[in-house]
Amino acid sequence: MAEAARRIDMLDTAPRFTAAQADALNVRFAGVATHEMLAALLREGLAGRIAAVSSFGAESAVLLHLIASVDRNVPVLFLDTGKHFAETLAYRDELVARIGLTNLINLTPDAEVLAKRDETGLRWSYDPDGCCEIRKVLPLAQALSGFDASFTGRKGFQSKTRAGLARFEIDTTDAAGRLKVNPLADWSADQIEAYFKATGLPAHPLVEQGYPSIGCSPCTTKVAPGEDPRSGRWKGWDKTECGIHVEGAASELPPGYDPAF
Ligand code: SF4
Repeated sequence: MAEAARRIDMLDTAPRFTAAQADALNVRFAGVATHEMLAALLREGLAGRIAAVSSFGAESAVLLHLIASVDRNVPVLFLDTGKHFAETLAYRDELVARIGLTNLINLTPDAEVLAKRDETGLRWSYDPDGCCEIRKVLPLAQALSGFDASFTGRKGFQSKTRAGLARFEIDTTDAAGRLKVNPLADWSADQIEAYFKATGLPAHPLVEQGYPSIGCSPCTTKVAPGEDPRSGRWKGWDKTECGIHVEGAASELPPGYDPAF
């Protein structure tokens, strides 16, 4: 009995994917069109239990539309931080209905953690890393613990830190060996624009107001033409990512994390 329990425990903690397996998927799908790759991945179950993580930001519609064209029931995880623009929440609802997504999951921060670590709701103004941890990293890590892989909408052209992004990589935010799939890794801004035009998908309403990358409202500013699209995020801070894509971000997190943390 004890041996069986130990084996189950080992299975639960064993890495789901290895770097070699991620590399093999990169080789298998090199040059394969994105839709074809998604269809094979989902129909053959190559990534196991997979969820899409979406910010419902400026370009999110493209990946969600591509995924839904294969399977509308893929879980879509949205980090409902409590700090989004009202336009983003309305756009989320519009896209879900328009694309026909049937499995949207809104992830909210733990109420006890918020009460203890961000009582005023202003942590973003003096400790954005801590704020992102409470409102994004912890809720997402807990949600992803039930999945083997996740889709992200990241693209290589978005910033210097994302240049050369691979389609398949190991999620380094914790030790679970989860696969991270970036179907749009090699897409250009022109391809994204062309996809919007071809499908008639609605644009995020803030894009035309000068926001090419949209996150939480306190941490998103307008960007001048020609500037790095993500330069309007956390302006004035030495911070380029919210933490959900940062190595080791959730390494200390147990599945049912201590709210007092
Ligand atoms: S983006 Fe800003 S408001 Fe949103 S969770 Fe991070 S620090 Fe907080």
